[in-house]
Amino acid sequence: MSSFEDRVSHCKGELRQNSDTVIYWSVLAHRIADNPALARAIELANEHGKRCLVVASLSIHGGEITKRQTKFAVQGIAEMKEALKEKSIPFFFLAVCDDGLPDAILDRAAAVITDFGYLRHHRQQREKLGQAFDGCIEALETMVCVPVVEVSDKQEYAARTIRKKLMERLDNWLTEAKMPTLEDQTGLRLDIEESPLDWKKIDGVSDDEASEIDWLEGGSEKARARLSAFLRSDLANYADDRSDANKENVSILSPYLRFGHIAPTEIVRKARSAKADADAFIEELVVRRELACNFCHYNHNYDRLDALPDWAEETLDKHESDERDPKYGTASLENAKTGDDVWNAAMMEMKQRGYLHNHLRMFWGKYIAKAMRDPKTAHKTLLTLNNRYFLDGGDPNSFANTLWVFGLHDRAFQENDVIGKVRPMGHGALERQFDVEKWVEDRQ
Ligand SMILES: Cc1cc2nc3c(=O)[nH]c(=O)nc-3n(C[C@H](O)[C@H](O)[C@H](O)COP(=O)(O)OP(=O)(O)OC[C@H]3O[C@@H](n4cnc5c(N)ncnc54)[C@H](O)[C@@H]3O)c2cc1C
Repeated sequence: MSSFEDRVSHCKGELRQNSDTVIYWSVLAHRIADNPALARAIELANEHGKRCLVVASLSIHGGEITKRQTKFAVQGIAEMKEALKEKSIPFFFLAVCDDGLPDAILDRAAAVITDFGYLRHHRQQREKLGQAFDGCIEALETMVCVPVVEVSDKQEYAARTIRKKLMERLDNWLTEAKMPTLEDQTGLRLDIEESPLDWKKIDGVSDDEASEIDWLEGGSEKARARLSAFLRSDLANYADDRSDANKENVSILSPYLRFGHIAPTEIVRKARSAKADADAFIEELVVRRELACNFCHYNHNYDRLDALPDWAEETLDKHESDERDPKYGTASLENAKTGDDVWNAAMMEMKQRGYLHNHLRMFWGKYIAKAMRDPKTAHKTLLTLNNRYFLDGGDPNSFANTLWVFGLHDRAFQENDVIGKVRPMGHGALERQFDVEKWVEDRQ
């Protein structure tokens, strides 16, 4: 078995010897470096004397993707296309293809290799592919360090229950997936029209307030530059300063991870060889991030309050009819029109920037949980705003963290009104970490 095959978490069917092409259907990992699914597709093509074709499509949640996310994602896909061209590997961009690969592609396919995603639409994509195609299908875990199915066979309760399982296995999963050279580099003609790599022309891009942003550009090169800058100047102080939103001593790699522009394995390898202690950073990148993937993979209600542990559901039910003071509806929240200046500034920051520091995300989420008429409405609003405005929205992390606000992966605390035994968080918790007044002032 090759090292790439170790990451296959779903497989079906036999390679069709009469068809001429191995397809890599890139739905998540839009990169060529350290991409085991791409490497596996080339390896299979070489082994069976086939050509290789890369087909990329956007992985979208809930049928739509925002302008800022589309622009960022397509910047990475455009870079992938250029890099493949240099290696004479044909490429097709299908933009949004929730219904699966077109017949013109499947008819030529000996095998389809794809990324293994953890969300409902990824599962549906795999199922539809299995119904439409009777050749070999393999889905590889390209978005995590340790494949989710290798770490645990069940939903883990919290970071403390998954940490040891992940860390014990991590070293065995960090080897770079080097891309083999494709032997058959003859061209390939397909009778279908490729989508333009112009994000403005892509159907299904929602025309909401989440307009495009310019301060962060997508793509593997930009991801690597950001990683290098972080390792050079911020990693050494990450453990002490990462909670200080004024210093922003964090990596801002989450959008690149969301769209697969950089492999988490590459980040861990480089962080470990930097001249600073990387443990606190690896705790977030590996333990917290991969706990979120574990959650979405094993709990198919990941976008509903039903996925909460019993204690959290019970306490929220008990306090459902408590009076909310203040109380807001979706429009006041989305328009940042509450009576809380810090919260309004956080909401504006995520709308304008598409990014918010982790501690402010916690505060932002906890406020919504307390200020809306019931937990179900609050959770729905939180998730909608999260996935609409954050560049990294629509990720397993989005679903796990919006439920963390209501008690997921956490323990019970002393009982309060409205949120019951769920961990409270208000201004005091923020002020203990950094100068909140300065943070707000800097944004006025
Ligand atoms: C209410 C709420 C909503 C959130 N929504 C999202 C979201 O939509 N998408 C998203 O990727 N993250 C989300 N997070 C988690 C976290 O806030 C971001 O991943 C982090 O702030 C990204 O910034 P960074 O890349 O600079 O992080 P760094 O501090 O540099 O961390 C490195 C990487 O570790 C991972 N990481 C860091 N913090 C967490 C965490 N708490 N949980 C899981 N993984 C983490 C991320 O992949 C991050 O890129 C949310 C957190 C909260 C409390």
